[in-house]
Amino acid sequence: MKRSPLRPISKKRQDQRLSRAVCVAAVVARDGGCLFLAYANTLDLVREAGTPLTPFSGLIWNGRHIPLKCWGPPTAHEPAHRRNVDPNDPASAICLCSFHNGFIEDEPGFGYATGLLVRGNGLPLRKGLTGDDDRVS
Ligand SMILES: [Zn+2]
Repeated sequence: MKRSPLRPISKKRQDQRLSRAVCVAAVVARDGGCLFLAYANTLDLVREAGTPLTPFSGLIWNGRHIPLKCWGPPTAHEPAHRRNVDPNDPASAICLCSFHNGFIEDEPGFGYATGLLVRGNGLPLRKGLTGDDDRVS
């Protein structure tokens, strides 16, 4: 009996990974790094304080310490749930470091407060952060 080795990854899956990698690279190149701090600076409590946050600032939000320092490689974050957007479309994603991407998933309340998460299929609220057009969900 002839046995051929199993392909570890299907051709379809390889193509999906490649398109996703191209999308992530485009998002990282466009945004130039993690936008978590920029979005945190749009919080009312930060704007009212009058002093923009830095990676070394302390931010307490709803009794929780919010870590502002980035960690890990930059990645693409979809503010809308990925089932509602094309995961290969750079327009539906913003750049976050892998730490802040995970943090937003753990603290969705902070994500919704800053616009890093949106409900439904809304596109990211850029709030003029990246020079792109402002899109409202
Ligand atoms: Zn970050």
